[in-house]
Amino acid sequence: MTEFAGLKLAQPILRAISDEGYTTPTPIQVKSIPPLLEGRDLLGVAQTGTGKTAAFALPLLHRLAGEAGKPAAKPRPKQPRALILAPTRELAGQINDSLRSYGRHLELRTAVIFGGVSARPQIQTLNRGIHVLVATPGRLLDLMNQGQVRLDAVEVFILDEADRMLDMGFIRDVKKIIAAVPARRQTALFSATMPESVQSLASGLLHDPVRVEAAPAATTVEKVEQKIFFVPKDKKRALLSELLKDQDIARVLIFTRTKHGANRVARHLEQTGISSDAIHGNKAQNARQRALDGFRSGSIRALVATDIAARGIDVEGVTHVINFELPNEPESYVHRIGRTARAGAGGVAISFCDHEERAYLRDIEKTIRQSVPVIEDHPYHAAEIANDPGLAKRGPQQTKRPSQRRRNPQRTKRAPRLAA
Ligand code: AMP
Repeated sequence: MTEFAGLKLAQPILRAISDEGYTTPTPIQVKSIPPLLEGRDLLGVAQTGTGKTAAFALPLLHRLAGEAGKPAAKPRPKQPRALILAPTRELAGQINDSLRSYGRHLELRTAVIFGGVSARPQIQTLNRGIHVLVATPGRLLDLMNQGQVRLDAVEVFILDEADRMLDMGFIRDVKKIIAAVPARRQTALFSATMPESVQSLASGLLHDPVRVEAAPAATTVEKVEQKIFFVPKDKKRALLSELLKDQDIARVLIFTRTKHGANRVARHLEQTGISSDAIHGNKAQNARQRALDGFRSGSIRALVATDIAARGIDVEGVTHVINFELPNEPESYVHRIGRTARAGAGGVAISFCDHEERAYLRDIEKTIRQSVPVIEDHPYHAAEIANDPGLAKRGPQQTKRPSQRRRNPQRTKRAPRLAA
């Protein structure tokens, strides 16, 4: 097993890793850190939860820290040496927090800029001099246009969650930013999925990249205690309220497939006296942040989220994940349940499965290569759902699945890489 000590990172970084309590690097870290330290470009296919932030942050900090024993070069006003682009404010903030943690024994200055808040303090930080800038595309372009940031000294450029960046319509902004960074640089692109659009962005951006992939570690799935409740669709809310009478469900992330569904569930919980909020793409940035802060601090017990909104959110101490609706992509299930059992802790994942979701469950069980135990001892158990094996796999024309078809049917055929 590779140890961090074998990865040739500077001592102050190894010390910070040990302060964090990390003992062994995750698979994506093992595969990414050596080529990045060599200065190679990298294409990383990895989701949140795999340790991808440290995979790019540690080599970056190593490079900027300078020669052993010598202080890092002085930070220059407005001219970062490294740029990390992230699609959302939450993710940008988390990356910056990680850089601060991993760089706590180094004299490096990092800053984060994003929209939705006043630019003034961000500009002041830039003027004081920075080594690393973490940014969302819109605010970065604004400040570039105002002459508050210059990208001509950027040596390392990292694009995180590229697929989501494109989903959110940032492609033009991203292209403008790419045009402003020097051609001679090291570049890494991370994306949870690799649709055509991301591949084409990557091929224009990366020079002879190393490609690394990592699904969430198998340990994530193994460490989560999983349960299935077969329940008719119209009884799901009642079942949820019933389950939440158990105070052991202290910090619960609830997933729905749609934004409206998320709002409805959050409203229902509030009405039944359970502190709750919803987080999804239609919410204003400050409302999302408020929900997230409330969930982190414990003032909100149940956070209801869609898959997209939950990406990149890293909240410690999530005791339970409840799939109010099952995802139609098995990878999303793995990703969702990985929200509990963070960084080695255990957790519980409860999934509601109605009649129409039976086939989703079958695909999920195939992907995780285990059958999830069924809990029958509850007032809404529906034996007829339990006894129905689900629709046989159909071609796209015949597909009658409820709301969404699988975006890419090929993906579920791929052999699972849970133990990457
Ligand atoms: P990420 O995929 O970057 O969002 O990281 C997921 C979580 O794993 C974060 O809470 C990190 O602090 C944690 N983490 C990252 N690397 C390691 C490691 N080598 N050992 C234990 N936890 C880690």
